[in-house]
Amino acid sequence: MVKKLTGQLMLSVPIRKARKTRASDFRGVKMPKKDYYEILNVDRNASQDEIKKAFRRLARKYHPDANRDDPSAEEKFKDINEAYEVLSDPDRRSRYDRFGHSAQGMGQGPGGPEAWDFGGFGQFDSIFDMFFGGEGFGGTRSARTGPERGRDIRYDMDITLEEAASGLEREITVRRLETCDTCNGTGAKPGTEPVTCPVCGGTGRVSQTRSTIFGTTSVTSICSRCHGRGTVITDPCGSCQGSGRIPKTRKIKVEIPKGVDSGIRMRVEGQGESGVRGGPPGDVYVYITVKPHPIFKRRGNDLICEKLISIYQATLGDEIEVPSIDGKSSLRIPEGTQTGTSFRLKGKGMPDVRGWGRGDQYVKVKVVTPTKLNEEEKELFKKLGKMQGESMSDEKLESKGFFGKIKDAWEKRA
Ligand code: ZN
Repeated sequence: MVKKLTGQLMLSVPIRKARKTRASDFRGVKMPKKDYYEILNVDRNASQDEIKKAFRRLARKYHPDANRDDPSAEEKFKDINEAYEVLSDPDRRSRYDRFGHSAQGMGQGPGGPEAWDFGGFGQFDSIFDMFFGGEGFGGTRSARTGPERGRDIRYDMDITLEEAASGLEREITVRRLETCDTCNGTGAKPGTEPVTCPVCGGTGRVSQTRSTIFGTTSVTSICSRCHGRGTVITDPCGSCQGSGRIPKTRKIKVEIPKGVDSGIRMRVEGQGESGVRGGPPGDVYVYITVKPHPIFKRRGNDLICEKLISIYQATLGDEIEVPSIDGKSSLRIPEGTQTGTSFRLKGKGMPDVRGWGRGDQYVKVKVVTPTKLNEEEKELFKKLGKMQGESMSDEKLESKGFFGKIKDAWEKRA
């Protein structure tokens, strides 16, 4: 039955219900286990705009063309399309919100009651195979006759925080498919030309008539001989074995602007794989990861570091040297600095990647309590303690501070 219509089929049109069939007629029939909102990773009250954005991002990520090595991506891609199909339509979305997946299979197809009633069957997984299976999806790609854009290439680059601060130029090596020089991308041996496909006669498709429970069904599928191209190569090019492209390893110079941070993606236009049949080349995307730094933590364009100071520096004040991302800076520690105090060095942070100035550097000082004192030193500390008055006990320290004042106030009221 219909379940068997898998593989390279494109359309299944019962003749007695002749109406122009759209891809959307078939959507929403399959019953996925997963929630549509979960699939798109959006909130249940996400706006249409948010849904659209989420869809675009995911569709790009799981596009079968970009994931040829990952068969599960195609499955995800289908789910994403299906979820979007429903959630982007306010009517269908509200029905889905109320009835869940069962709403989709209740015969109330997207085109209204007159649309095809497939709901009763609830097993049309194969319809998706028709549109997405085998050679391409969605019809336009199934017949691979026109120009096709080359694939994008992802390149992951780890850089140091210093490199991120100064910007850098680096040569990267990518392996990509390039148009074959020998045949100029045609795939045919020089001097020969592709010939009209003998199976489909150049249309790229073959039709077949079958009997199903719907009546007579005309089934159009992509020609298995020429894969929809309409032409076949009888004498393949020796360099590329007829594919028209050859893998090549290339070095590309990329310029990384100063201020980049992890998660930023730089596009190097036109450096991806060559297109097919005159299609434009893809791009290279450089994904940046800034490695953790031993001294600095980054927060936006600000840099944070810690600096140890002695109890003497903290007490008396000092001018100290601190590391900065582009060298050293001097920092004045005022008299009586408490441990944990942060000082700001204006404009000593990271440059803004859009060129909007620089962030700041924050130096958090930690006061180190002296250890391993000799007898003489201990005597000096004791002396110092006595000179500070009898105020070394907890109560006395407290009574001078904020808590002491509160305590005094309570005592006075009592
Ligand atoms: Zn060639």
